[in-house]
Amino acid sequence: MGFRTDQIHAGVTPDPSSGAILTPIHQSTTFVQPSVDDYMATGYSYSRSGNPTVTAFEARVAKLEGGIGSAAFSSGMAATNAVFMALLNTGDHAVVSDVAYGGTYRLATKVFTRFGVHFTFADTSDLDAVRAAVNERTRLVFTETPANPNLKYTDIAGVSEIATSLGIPHAVDNTFLTPYFQRPLELGADLVVHSTTKYFDGHNATVGGVVVSRTEELSEAVAFVQNAAGLIMSPMVAWLTLQGSKTLSERMDRQSASAMAVAEFLEGHPKVTAVSYPGLASFPQHELATKQASGYGAMGCFEVEGGVEAAKSLMGSVRLWTLAENLGSVESIITHPVTMTHADVEKPERLRVGITDGMVRISVGLEDTEDLIGDLAQGLDRL
Ligand SMILES: *Cc1c(COP(=O)(O)O)cnc(C)c1O
Repeated sequence: MGFRTDQIHAGVTPDPSSGAILTPIHQSTTFVQPSVDDYMATGYSYSRSGNPTVTAFEARVAKLEGGIGSAAFSSGMAATNAVFMALLNTGDHAVVSDVAYGGTYRLATKVFTRFGVHFTFADTSDLDAVRAAVNERTRLVFTETPANPNLKYTDIAGVSEIATSLGIPHAVDNTFLTPYFQRPLELGADLVVHSTTKYFDGHNATVGGVVVSRTEELSEAVAFVQNAAGLIMSPMVAWLTLQGSKTLSERMDRQSASAMAVAEFLEGHPKVTAVSYPGLASFPQHELATKQASGYGAMGCFEVEGGVEAAKSLMGSVRLWTLAENLGSVESIITHPVTMTHADVEKPERLRVGITDGMVRISVGLEDTEDLIGDLAQGLDRL
């Protein structure tokens, strides 16, 4: 079946007891066993170890990403944490994209290093840098593409080839493009991570995450951590995300078309000194973005003349764009990474990876494109 069919039907069937078209929210801690001999006859025993609403969501995402199994988590960070916990032991080393979600950097440097895991934050957009970063203790290559917030792309097939030749799993954070636009497992990656908080939900209603695995072995390792550490998604969140995911393709198409128009407007504005949107011919990795994914997504960033003060002033003068720390929802959101999402990344590190004081990140939502451009225009004209 095609993606649009799968995003609606994969993982779910009408409820056998009532015919309810929507998978019920199985809000129950435990599941009654028919007898000691038939223990687990339904496949469920206790909701940390498995819940039917969560299972439905996991099956849908596995299908959309083309994986063998998936495990849903309480947040995107819990999903990343599960990948780290499943694969890294004391003394091990992991290579992580140098531009990545701030929380990924924090989890690695502030938590896993305490357990004796070593990290190299490498420019994974450069395959030679990946080759140079791996060593005999490397047990994971974790990339994010396009990366938050500057949209740097990593060549998934290229990194997967390097990792596979060394027997190292390659995990890709696919939050920004979703499987509708980009399917890392088809390009050779072993694991896919999502913050479902973003496009899968799409409505600013939940916080959640998911890990999809290429092999049974990886799938079991991740599911083991999900249960052992209790990093589970709740039935209510799974249900809401199941509903949101039904329109994923339509939102992605519309939001990315709108993002392209917004990017073109920004590129022509005198107060804007740089625009980074993968769909623009001026984007340094436009060719890779076009080859690797079927769309450019709805995230962009730009630089306003005047640094922190100008960026703050713009944040204060826009009316339709919401100042908030989320992305991927139907509401358009504007963020100042330096003071918001990336506040925990030390200045030299953030400047090294291109997160400048005047950088503004936008997540283009589903409002009318003209309204979004009009609002940015009035804000920029005041600078
Ligand atoms: C938001 C985000 C995360 C973390 O997800 P949470 O659901 O907020 O824990 C990880 N990676 C990327 C790319 C994100 O945008």
